[in-house]
Amino acid sequence: MSGTVLVTGATGFIAKHCIAELIRQGYSVRGTVRHSGADANLACALERAGIDGAAVEIREADLLQDDGWEQALEGCSHVLHVASPFPIKPPRNRDEVMRPAVDGTLRVLAAATRVGVQRVVLTSSVVACTYPSGGEQARTYTEADWTDTNRADLSSYVIAKTQAEQAAWDFVRSTPNAPELAVINPGFVLGPALDLDLSTSHQVVRLIAQGKYPAAPRAGCIVVDVRDVAAAHVAAMTNPVAAGERFLATSGTISLLNLASMIAHALPHVASRVPRREVPDFLIRGLALFDRSLLAVLPDLSTRRECDNAKARERLGIEFRPPREAVAAAAKSLHERGAI
Ligand code: NDP
Repeated sequence: MSGTVLVTGATGFIAKHCIAELIRQGYSVRGTVRHSGADANLACALERAGIDGAAVEIREADLLQDDGWEQALEGCSHVLHVASPFPIKPPRNRDEVMRPAVDGTLRVLAAATRVGVQRVVLTSSVVACTYPSGGEQARTYTEADWTDTNRADLSSYVIAKTQAEQAAWDFVRSTPNAPELAVINPGFVLGPALDLDLSTSHQVVRLIAQGKYPAAPRAGCIVVDVRDVAAAHVAAMTNPVAAGERFLATSGTISLLNLASMIAHALPHVASRVPRREVPDFLIRGLALFDRSLLAVLPDLSTRRECDNAKARERLGIEFRPPREAVAAAAKSLHERGAI
């Protein structure tokens, strides 16, 4: 394969695996960081994935500023727009997630249009699909489903990811010469951490392994391995049938209690610290009044959401690793890096 691909937020967890996959497949990669020097450990992290990280060209661009995007995109045929905040706690000011997600996505798409990029692959999330209004929520979701951003019980992150994806689709439909768009909607992304710059998903694994949760909320977790998410991004970038499509990138739904027991299975020395029972929903609702990090779980209490990954399997050719493998790889890599 040939051509230069821009990956936004090159130091992020998913972005690093996308870069590794692109280089493996023979692409030249340029990555953006928002602060100079932020990529100091990038080459080292990529080497852990068996990649010569020195090959990545780095440019500075912030999703909140116009400066730098056109220069970063010059000469790129494709973009993986992965960057967006994924905070572990809901921010007090929702603009902290809304602006980089929504305005940032539009900024990248507008610059990509000016420069003549062929296709943009946007990293959305299953959360843009799995919280519709009304009806039975505990069901299997597909790419036809959309979250209702008018729901009052959703976090600013869920709203930001949904509105960012909707804004991207609106943009490409209404803008002459806009790039093609393909969207990947990953579940909770686990798999190997390449460094100690931990994503929110790895921070959750670490907190469970450190014994920070005495018991687990009765909620499900739609898991996927980062290596499969990266492969889906690269496949969606060039596969002719992917243009104009969204793809759920998910492996399966497990309960948070299952997640804890899979972590214990991978790392027997933490087994005594992980939760072994579930907390009644009313208790979680009460605790969420004091601990804002619990707010995000409230819509999921006693509600098992599943996702149908057939479209990504059939059209992009992705064979998703089972949740147990994704969880074990996450836990073991965090242990190897000294985070657990
Ligand atoms: P990380 O926190 O590891 O990466 C987020 C990246 O976004 C970082 O590189 C960060 O840069 C960058 N970023 C944040 N704000 C800005 C900004 N204003 N300008 C430029 N860059 C910015 O998270 P993940 O890799 O886990 O997530 C990547 C994407 O995947 C996000 O869009 C997230 O919503 C999505 N996603 C993640 C899931 C998961 O479970 N991890 C699940 C589903 C979707 P910096 O390092 O400077 O902060």
